[in-house]
Amino acid sequence: MPGFELFGDLERKEVNDVLDNGVLMRYGFDGMRKGHWKAKELETELGKAFNSKHVQLVSSGTAAVSVALASAGVGAGDEVIMPTFTFVASFEAIMMLGAIPVLVDIDDTLTLDPKAVEAAITDKTKAVMVVHMCGSMANLNELQKVCNTNGLVLVEDACQAIGATYNGKPLGSIGDLGCFSFDFVKTITCGEGGAVITNNKDFYVNADHYSDHGHDHIGSDRGAETHPFLGYNFRISELHAAVGLAQVRRLSEFLEIQRKYLTIFQDKLSQIPEVTLRTVPEGGEESGAFFNFFLPDLETTRKVIQAFKENGIDACWNYYDNNWHYIRKWDHLKDLKSLFPITQEVKDGLKYLKTKSFKQSDHFIGRNISCLIKLSWTQEEVEERAKKMTEIISQMV
Ligand SMILES: *Cc1c(COP(=O)(O)O)cnc(C)c1O
Repeated sequence: MPGFELFGDLERKEVNDVLDNGVLMRYGFDGMRKGHWKAKELETELGKAFNSKHVQLVSSGTAAVSVALASAGVGAGDEVIMPTFTFVASFEAIMMLGAIPVLVDIDDTLTLDPKAVEAAITDKTKAVMVVHMCGSMANLNELQKVCNTNGLVLVEDACQAIGATYNGKPLGSIGDLGCFSFDFVKTITCGEGGAVITNNKDFYVNADHYSDHGHDHIGSDRGAETHPFLGYNFRISELHAAVGLAQVRRLSEFLEIQRKYLTIFQDKLSQIPEVTLRTVPEGGEESGAFFNFFLPDLETTRKVIQAFKENGIDACWNYYDNNWHYIRKWDHLKDLKSLFPITQEVKDGLKYLKTKSFKQSDHFIGRNISCLIKLSWTQEEVEERAKKMTEIISQMV
C-alpha cells in the first residue's frame, strides 16, 4: 500500500517549489507565491481522480472524518453507526463532536453489515460511517438503501481503499461525503494529510470554512474575511500538499502494481481448499492495498501468523489480537479513559459497550489474515512470497 515506498524526484520537485518561495501556508500571501498553490492544485487533481465536484484538503484522515460529520451537521448527542473493525480514528472523530459512536457488526466483506446497521437505528441516529477496510468495500447499494429509507447521512471512510471502485465509481464518491487519509502508510501520502470529497455544495462550503477557523475565504485579504460560523484549524500545509500532488499523479501507476500483485496472491492461495477469499460486493474492484483471506478457525489462524513471522513473511496480521483496529482491545473506549470530562450524554450512550458482544465480527476477524501489498516488491518476490505462504498454510490446515 504505502506510497512512501516510491518517494522520489517528482515529490522533491514539488516540495522544492514551495521551499523556493517560502510560502508554507495554503491560504493568502498571493504576491509571494510565484503562482504556486499546491493545496489548491491537489484538490483539483483529487476531484478528477475521485470523480467529485468538491474537495477539501485537511490535516489528517481523522480530521477528514470529523470535518465531514460536522459539515453534515452531526454533533452533540447524535448517534453515528460505525463498524467494530476499523481504526481508532473512527470513534475519535465522532466523539470529538460530542456525538455517540454506535458500533455494529461487520460481515464477510470485513466492513459494515447492512443488516446490523438497520437493526441499530434509533431516533437519535444521524449518520452511518462505512469504513472500507483493507482495500475493499462494503455493500454500498444496501447501505445507501438503508440510509435513504431512514434519512441518514452516509459518510465513506476510504482511507484504506484509495482507488478502489464500486460499480465503476471511486470509493468515497458514492456516499454523501467521502474521507481519505494521506498519512505516511496510505496508498498515496502527503506525510500527513487528508481530504473530504463531496458533490454537495453546502457540505463542501461548510468543510471549507470549518477546517479554517470559520474563514469564509472571500476576497484576498484574510484578515478582513468574515466568519459565518465557528470553526477549528484542520489545515494542511503547502509542503504536505506538494508531496501529495506528486503522489496523486502516480496513483494509477500504484494501483496497477497493487492489483497485479493482489491477483498473484489470490490465484495462488485460493488453490488451498481451506482458504476462503474475502467477499467483494458485486460490482466492486479492490485497490489491491491488501490481500485478505479467511482460514477455518482462530487457532489455525494464530498458528499460521506465527509461522509466517518465523519464516520471514512480514506485514501480515490477524486483527483479532490487534490493539488499534478491533473492538476487543479498545478498553480505553469501553472504560472511557478521557483526559477531560465527557458529557453525560456520551457516557450513557456508550454504556452498551461494557456488556455487548460482537459474535459475528469475532467470527470473521478471528479467522482473517490481512497482508499488506508493497509497491516496492518485484513480481518474482511476490511469486516467491505467495509460494511460501501456500506451503506454510498447507502444512497447518
Ligand atoms: C489511517 C486511517 C484513518 C486516519 O487517518 P490519519 O491520517 O492517520 O489520521 C482513518 N480511518 C482509517 C480506516 C484509516 O486507515
